[in-house]
Formats: sequence, C-alpha cells, structure tokens
Amino acid sequence: MAVVVDDDGLTRGGGRRRIVLFPLPFQGHISPMLQLADVLHRRGHLAVTVLHTARNAPDPAARPDGFDFVPVPDGMPAAVAASDDPLEKILAMNAAMDTSGCVRDALASILLSATEEQQPVSCLIMDTALPAAQKAAAALGLPTVVLHTVSAASTRLYRSYAMLHDKGYLPAQEQELNRPVKELPPLRVSDLFDPSKHPDQESANKILDGNFRTTSNSAGVVINTFEALETPELAALRAELGSTGTSTKVFAIGPLHELSAIDAAASSLQEQDGSCISWLDTQAPGSVLYASLGSVIPVQKDEFAEVAWGLAGSGVPFLWVVRRGLVAGGGESDPDLPDGFERAVEGRGKVVRWAPQREALAHGAVGGFWTHSGWNSTLESVHEGVPMLCRPLFGDQPVNARYVGEAWKNGVLLMEGEKKLERGKIAQAIRAFMDPGEKGDEMRERAEELRRQSAACLEPGGGSTCRAVDELVDHILSL
Ligand code: UDP
Repeated sequence: MAVVVDDDGLTRGGGRRRIVLFPLPFQGHISPMLQLADVLHRRGHLAVTVLHTARNAPDPAARPDGFDFVPVPDGMPAAVAASDDPLEKILAMNAAMDTSGCVRDALASILLSATEEQQPVSCLIMDTALPAAQKAAAALGLPTVVLHTVSAASTRLYRSYAMLHDKGYLPAQEQELNRPVKELPPLRVSDLFDPSKHPDQESANKILDGNFRTTSNSAGVVINTFEALETPELAALRAELGSTGTSTKVFAIGPLHELSAIDAAASSLQEQDGSCISWLDTQAPGSVLYASLGSVIPVQKDEFAEVAWGLAGSGVPFLWVVRRGLVAGGGESDPDLPDGFERAVEGRGKVVRWAPQREALAHGAVGGFWTHSGWNSTLESVHEGVPMLCRPLFGDQPVNARYVGEAWKNGVLLMEGEKKLERGKIAQAIRAFMDPGEKGDEMRERAEELRRQSAACLEPGGGSTCRAVDELVDHILSL
C-alpha cells in the first residue's frame, strides 16, 4: 500500500506510520530490538508494536510508554524449552509458527487496526533468525527489515559458508585450527562456527541457511555496530549484498544501548541486583575485574569450579555474575558455589545473580571485563573503554574475541587453544591482565581510543550512527 508521507513521518491523513518489531526471545536479542524501537519511535516519530513470545516476555511493569505489545505463542515443546541448546529452540519456534500461522494472524490483525487508525504499517523489523516471521509478512505483502544482533564481521561470516566449504576451511580439521582464513581476516579456522561439530549438524545448517535467506530477502539490514569500529567489514558486506543484485541497504546504528533512552530494566529479563554498584563504590579505581558469561550458554560443572577458584586465587577484587542456569544440567536453578569459596573471597569478591551490567562497566572501579564475548557485552565494553579478557563459549563469540585480541587490541584471550580451564592458569592470567605493566599500555590506549570513537559516532548531526538512523527512518518511510 503506497502512503504519502510528510518530511516528519506524519501521513497526510494526520496519522503516523507504524512499525512492528519481533525479537528472538533471548536477552541479547530483546534488548537491542527494544532499543531500536525506542530510537525509531523518538527520532522517526514512528508508532511501535512489539510482537513477543509469551516465554521471556518483557516485564509488563517496565514497558516503555506508548509501545503496543502483542503476545504470540512460541509453540516450543516443553523438552526443547528446558534444553540448553539455543539452536533447537530457534528451530522449534520457527516450525511451530509456520504450522500454527499465529504470526501471520497477529500481523494481519495489526495491519487491519493500524489501517483503521490511519497508522499504516511500514514494515516488520525482525530478528534474522525468524524466517517464519518473514514468510508470514511476505504473505501479507509487508516488507521486512532484519536486525542483526551480532557484529558486521559475524554477519559477513554467516554469509560466507559456501566459500568456507569450497576452500576447505570447513569442516574444520584438528591440525588446521590455527590456519588464518585469509578471506576474512583476522579470523582463524578455530573461530568459525562449524556445523559439523554441532550435535545436530542439520539443525545448525538450517539456522545458517535461515539467517542467509532472511537477510537476502529483506528490504534493509540493521547492524548494532558503528562505522569506525568495523569499516572494512561493513564495506565488504555492502559490496557482497550489492553484488547479489538486491538493493538491500546496510545501516550501522550502534551502539544501540547508548543511543536509546530506554531504561535497561525495560528489556531485562532478570531482576538486576543494584547492591553491586554500592559495593563497587567501596573499591579502588580500576581495581575490579567484572566477570559475566552472558545469559544463554551454560558452562560445565567442573569448569564453573575452575572459574570460581581461579577468581579466588588471583588475589584481584572481582564482581562475578552467577546467574540461574549458568551450570549445565542444573535447569534454571541457582548454581552452588564451591565449598569454602565465599570464605576465601570475603571482602574481595562479590557474587550477584544478575548485574546492571552497563552501570557496572561504566563504574570507575572496574578495570577489566572477563567476558564470554557476546556481541552486546563486547559493544558495551567498547563503549565504556573497558579492556576485555575473553573466553568465548559458542557461536559468534570466538569471532568477537578474535577481533578484540587481534584487530582492535583492546583485550586478550584467556587460555587460548586450551579446551579446559584450569584454576592456576586462570589466576595467573587474571593477574597479568589486570596489572600488565607496560605491556598493558597499548591495550588500555586502544580501549580508550575505541571509547572516543564510540562517543563520536553518536554525536548529533555529524556522528555516523546518527546519520545512519536518519537514513534508516527515511528508508522505512519509503517502503
Ligand atoms: N547482562 C546484564 N546483567 C548481567 C549479565 C548480562 O544486564 O549480569 C546483559 C548485558 O549487558 C548484555 C546482555 O545481558 O546486554 C547479554 O548479551 P550478550 O550478547 O553479551 O550475550 P548473550 O547473553 O546473548 O550470550
């Protein structure tokens, strides 16, 4: 449906254009999607409807004013919902949505009431991992824009699997793990997500294929990154998408968490424990290691114990997030800390179930971040200029860690190449990371330089991200 719009996004009929957004129901996907919604709502005057699954729904009490929220069933069988495997969950959700038609029905009803209210829907902005949603939108003639919640480098990597197989990088051979992937520097074979190593190879390939298709079939690609951070990766991605004959535009509009005014609690699936901020207030500047392993992938029980005793043995003050479900096989329960751990770290270590992470990273007492290298965490750390000690677990995390260690040099990898963590080596690595002497100067200078670049891209008017937001609004209004 063609709608004539004024410059400010108001339709000539006096109503506004509406966008529908559909995140994947994981913390690292919900937050950037709601932040994007907020940015487009404020900057583009766009009315917002958020489709969400009933499971992991954003807290009704903390929802942003003026947004409509529409629940859809995720249709996930209970056994899949209880599993540790995010890929199985994503596939089950898509399959159930295809079968039930629930997304199509929800979209049809939103389109109808939006038309009645003179707020015609411009597009569906959806997570790349939701091909079922794209299919439902296409059936209703609604264009889609995809949000990539990973870096531009990972977005590019996910579009390179045919090449990686053709050139023999994959399936990865044990003796080739250190081989540089010369088409995707600085990646090595060990950094690639290898479907053949996944317990269910077919599922892993399906996810990659779905991701490829949703991007190719979209009217726009939004990436939570900024131009100065990933200049060559964004250029390569634009060239690659251009060469396929589509006119898919790429918008680098990060760091979204800083651009958006949305309260972190509005998108948090867990209650944040603010007591750690008062604890940080009592610590010396730059002295504390903040440690968090993200919200999705669990660690094995023995590894969890090595992390605990490594932190304890380092002698460094630390704030450690031990979330429910962090230990594999324990369901959503609180992991038991090893016997004697709390006594050993009394006064020096603080453990919380969930931290206000952005506030913690921005706190002057935090001098380093032990991270699983999730993309949101990486970007939040880049923005605050906090150096990273990276121990990636899964998916795109090894890619982010490699960029930190080798391209941006604002951090180091923890026990790289060693499959199992060991407490003595962890303790030593933490000490070397937090007090690296002259060797650490470059890392801290790089972290500071990236912090400045991240601030600069957000400058109103001239910053690359602000310009990209305006272009994205124009693009949405043109759909
Ligand atoms: N996070 C948080 N408090 C915590 C741990 C994590 O608020 O105690 C947030 C963090 O700020 C980030 C998100 O959870 O925005 C995790 O996303 P990321 O992409 O880093 O990792 P994932 O959880 O998807 O593996």
